[in-house]
Amino acid sequence: MALDVPQMIPLICRSKFLGLKHESTNVRPLRQATEAYCLRVPRIRIRFPLSESATELLPWFIIFFPAFCDEDTMSWRRQLARLIPQASFVCSTALVVARRGAVVFMFHRVLEPGAVCYDAEMVTSTDLFGEFVQWLAREFEIVPLGEIAVRLQNGRPLKRVCSLTFDDGWVDNYTNAFSIIRRFNAPATIFLASSFIGSTRRLWQDRLWYLLRLISGTDLGDLVRNWRTQHQIEKAVPADLSFAAWRTFLMGVGNEEAEDFVVKLQDVVPRAAIPNAPVFMNWDQVREMHQAGIEFGAHTLNHVFLPNADVNTAQSEIEGSRREIEERMNGRIAGFAYPWGALNAKIRECVKRAGFKYAAGVQPGIVRSKSDMFLLPRMFMSDSVLRYGSSFSKTNTAVYLAVKSITRAGANEY
Ligand SMILES: [Zn+2]
Repeated sequence: MALDVPQMIPLICRSKFLGLKHESTNVRPLRQATEAYCLRVPRIRIRFPLSESATELLPWFIIFFPAFCDEDTMSWRRQLARLIPQASFVCSTALVVARRGAVVFMFHRVLEPGAVCYDAEMVTSTDLFGEFVQWLAREFEIVPLGEIAVRLQNGRPLKRVCSLTFDDGWVDNYTNAFSIIRRFNAPATIFLASSFIGSTRRLWQDRLWYLLRLISGTDLGDLVRNWRTQHQIEKAVPADLSFAAWRTFLMGVGNEEAEDFVVKLQDVVPRAAIPNAPVFMNWDQVREMHQAGIEFGAHTLNHVFLPNADVNTAQSEIEGSRREIEERMNGRIAGFAYPWGALNAKIRECVKRAGFKYAAGVQPGIVRSKSDMFLLPRMFMSDSVLRYGSSFSKTNTAVYLAVKSITRAGANEY
């Protein structure tokens, strides 16, 4: 438990230590830890007004109380000494806050430590994932997301319940995560972008990541000019070869335009630049997991940004993925997850019309009795949330969940 303390200190005492003028050797590591904490959990935002009642916020007042102590009468060493025995108290208090409703965790890739991916925020290491599921199995009742949806619909209790979900259908969900969740008898729900299943296709973002590292600025300039003229794109393009900037830009211009841009980029750079090993599961693996109790849901055919698609395309992407998964699995599916959590009123109607019973978004929060069946909140999870130093931190994770559960988050409505 003592290991869990340092990461709590920056959060609790942040307001005091950021302003320190004299850096002794004792203080410097603490300041570094403070900055590291801010970097590692960039999504923590406490916004006011908070959505919950004053009684429910009482544990938070207790947690943050030391941060408001008078610095003149109480040195940081004494505050630190006071907090050490409170570490387990912090973890259990945070859990009380997070377990007021059902917590739905959202994962993407589960990779061996050190493996690379175009978006580090999508990656959870196998070792951290294993420790996290072991901890969850002790602290929560783990059920498939479909079960949470049924309980919500029937007005049954949701407290202390959680669900593990995975988006897209990455092959490592089968090769790495499957054995871990089976070891702890944990059910899970996987949302498939069904056209990628059983193919060697890669998402355009993934290909873009490989290609931008190999193209020269001059080649890119020529390509961009032609592409912009062809698609009549007036929006300014990113000034450099930054993957993050290009990804954001392309997501804003439209699915077909983005896909076409990456295809054109591929023509300029040798094909061998992108590995051809499959990164998504195949249908045999899906069926094997299904038989072992894993629940599957749909995530469109081609992982499109739905608000940018016209209604007919959106409907066929949503319905098509459902049909394909049901045929391949020879069974019914009930759930849908919006790619990037992006939706609007029109897309929500398409999902209902396609016959889904529930849909999951990406906005954080916990599922409570009044939650929207077609926009279930989920907690984004990856190494950056679970890890402190090189190991899993339950206090870190519990505080992250508690903070996220009380913040008022808007949906990604477009
Ligand atoms: Zn996705």
